[in-house]
Amino acid sequence: MHDLAEGVARFRRDVFPAKADLFARLATTHRPGTLFIGCSDARVVPELITRSEPGDLFVLRTAGNLVPAYAPGPDAVAAGIEYAVAVLGVRDIVLCGHSGCGAMTALAERHDLDALPAIAAWLRYADASPAHADGADLAALVRGNVRAQLANLRTHPSVARALAERRLTLRGWVFDIPTGDVTDIETGGAPAPDRPHA
Ligand SMILES: [Zn+2]
Repeated sequence: MHDLAEGVARFRRDVFPAKADLFARLATTHRPGTLFIGCSDARVVPELITRSEPGDLFVLRTAGNLVPAYAPGPDAVAAGIEYAVAVLGVRDIVLCGHSGCGAMTALAERHDLDALPAIAAWLRYADASPAHADGADLAALVRGNVRAQLANLRTHPSVARALAERRLTLRGWVFDIPTGDVTDIETGGAPAPDRPHA
């Protein structure tokens, strides 16, 4: 196992001192501008790929960056979205898929998930994407899934309200692991601050 304890020691010694003022401010302030929803995949690190500082991003990571459509009842993803939008007042939500996604691969290649019932049940939330098209190109599936999850996001009352009041923008991105490219699914280019697509 990677030595997390050594990492913590290095953080305390080499990283924290330079950010002590920031953390002192953050101790009593939590005002992130963006809700970043990404995959739990260890290779997709939101703060790294956006060069964000502590306090900038409110992050939700789920397997396959899936966001179930809103339904009443306890739901960790829904609670996180509601808190970020209705309480923290984030101005942007970024929904980010990625290349080589295990969840999307399982759907594209119709993996047998009989022994993995929790995963099988969870991946049903991806059903709005063209998951079952034979020979679906994985990259197209990843993009389609980002679109489907953006649609699911809009079903959450806090999101719908903020969109109606024009105080929230939704963006769909895909991160390509081997090249480091981040692509906006609407423009096909790099994310641009003036190209929202709510
Ligand atoms: Zn993934």
